Amino acid sequence: MFQTGCRPELSEESPAAGARSIHARVLTVDTHCDTAFRLLDGTWDIGARHEPGQRASGQIDLPRMAEGGLDAEFFAVFVGQEERTEEGYAKAKESALQTLESIRAMCAKYPNLVGLALTPDDAYRLEKEGRRAAFIGMENGYPVGKTLSNLEEYYKLGVRYVTLCHSEDNDICDSSTDRQDPEDRGLSEFGREVVAACNRLGMMVDVSHASDKSFYDILKVTRAPIIASHSSCRAICDSPRNLSDDMIRALAANGGVIQICFLSDYVRTPKPNPERDKAFRELRAKYGARRDIRDEATRKKGREEYEALNEKYPREKATVSELVDHIEHVSELVGVDSVGIGTDFDGGGGVEGCDDVSKMFRVTEELVRRGRTEEEIAKVWGGNIMRVFRRVIAVSRDLNSPGPPLDSGSPAR
Ligand SMILES: [Zn+2]
Repeated sequence: MFQTGCRPELSEESPAAGARSIHARVLTVDTHCDTAFRLLDGTWDIGARHEPGQRASGQIDLPRMAEGGLDAEFFAVFVGQEERTEEGYAKAKESALQTLESIRAMCAKYPNLVGLALTPDDAYRLEKEGRRAAFIGMENGYPVGKTLSNLEEYYKLGVRYVTLCHSEDNDICDSSTDRQDPEDRGLSEFGREVVAACNRLGMMVDVSHASDKSFYDILKVTRAPIIASHSSCRAICDSPRNLSDDMIRALAANGGVIQICFLSDYVRTPKPNPERDKAFRELRAKYGARRDIRDEATRKKGREEYEALNEKYPREKATVSELVDHIEHVSELVGVDSVGIGTDFDGGGGVEGCDDVSKMFRVTEELVRRGRTEEEIAKVWGGNIMRVFRRVIAVSRDLNSPGPPLDSGSPAR
């Protein structure tokens, strides 16, 4: 249920009004954003409305979530990949705990606007209460280090999915975009233990960023369905970050879901833009690879210059219609039960017409235009990911109890 009065009045007869009321009725879930880094910045307030399009506005705040009719957000605890040493793991853990705490602090600071969500039931309850649901995901398993008990610690603090790697290979698995090391070793022995631990804990395993071999290795060993929290379709946009049709079939056969990413370069193959490419090459030459930037001040400066270049050389972004093409592609390939939405807002996500969270209803408008029913839209927006989450919890319960073996049916909703 949608309980704020921010949306313009529309006549009940117009298709847009129909789309808006569907959007208000269904549970809407975004499974990936990188907004948490802003929470660590003491001058930025997620409880205040920021005007879209301004550089420091970000793409998500709580008032704009209500405005766009987004009920639930998975806030990612992101830690960039660095040294795979004891010292590196310790620093990564410290950083992860700090970010985790900032998400919990947001919920404590704005209890009337948002609540921490740990289960699907929490999301449906918060939606009824007219509050936003804040789930926590962890992007990059690096802060787990080599210590499985860390995973349990993060789970206890609220983390409900772990993206096993980021842009570089780590101890768990190989990444889809590690250009320094093109060899694909897939899931490591330790990675197998991490997947098993996730299954036991009831933590969703996220394959976004994982290499193709990692993806198939993970599917071989997981006892529960898996998710791709923010990836699109390779058949439409050929990027190693997207899933091939064969991968989507395998994911769906295992009961999982692909959450279509709004990052324009993963939605539509970017047009050549030599000036922009040259400027970004120079920026990379100046700062080196992200993994090599050791101090936060330099990283912040690099990010600011990156944002300035983005303004100077804007790229033509994909559209909402092209984004919905990915949803339709998955639906045609394996059915509407295996697709959802993961924006990657504040991490590069955003398409023309839906470039911040206040415009989320535009996706529903386009789905209605394509002839999708309310039942199908409810699945895409939240029903599918919540079904997977319930299954992951059920598998965990079964693995932790000595009772009869798992049944093969899927739980309700
Ligand atoms: Zn990502």
